[in-house]
Amino acid sequence: MRRIVLLGPPGAGKGTQAKRLATDLGIVHLSTGDLLRAAAARGTSLGREADGYMRQGLLVPDALVLRILRERLAAPDAQRGFVLDGYPRNVAQAHSLAEITPIDHVVYFEIPESALVERLSQRRSCPTCGAVYNLVTQPPRTPGRCDRDGTTLVQRSDDEEGAVRTRLAVYRQATLPLLDLYRTQGRLRTVSAGGTVEEVDARVRASLR
Ligand code: ADP
Ligand code: ADP
Repeated sequence: MRRIVLLGPPGAGKGTQAKRLATDLGIVHLSTGDLLRAAAARGTSLGREADGYMRQGLLVPDALVLRILRERLAAPDAQRGFVLDGYPRNVAQAHSLAEITPIDHVVYFEIPESALVERLSQRRSCPTCGAVYNLVTQPPRTPGRCDRDGTTLVQRSDDEEGAVRTRLAVYRQATLPLLDLYRTQGRLRTVSAGGTVEEVDARVRASLR
């Protein structure tokens, strides 16, 4: 049973590493960003409400995110452990999480801001299966198409420059204070998120030993 939280700024590679780690450990990858985008795509009332915040790069209100997370964590496949990516993002969410489930490790992805802007501007994703690519560092085999299902890749609206700036500011202001919280609890493992996907993968694994 592993209950792992990945913490770090937008573009640090949390989603990329979470998928690898979850597959490897045989546990679920749980991304609140993916859950919210799926709800928005389905056009549920929660999804429609969340969508306006996401487009601007602002945090979706805590109560909405908590509702969607609680539901997902209650599913049978989440009972054997999870890699949680994108939650918590502020101190209130960290307290809510502690009330729902114990956490074993928090892995913090440390990376300079300049690298984030570069990674985010080149990020593309598959609207069908959620696979994430990078035009420079993780290109698809056929330009513009998902390797798995051939769907035309898209750029997330919140990866445009204005929204990226807002997200980085929100991260600094709301999310960074979580480092101290988890450090004090003795749960924080810090890894450098620079370098190749394989290099970061190796550091994450080493940090979990
Ligand atoms: P996050 O979930 O933290 O926002 P992603 O996993 O979506 O980050 O990665 C952001 C972008 O950077 C994507 O385009 C991804 O393909 C790319 N990426 C992820 N890890 C690396 C890495 N180690 N080196 C270079 N590019 C990376
Ligand atoms: P990234 O890792 O690139 O920042 P995510 O997919 O984790 O992207 O999040 C995208 C957007 O979804 C956020 O900017 C925010 O609007 C919303 N979101 C995701 N998780 C949360 C959360 N825990 N609390 C509030 N909003 C969230």
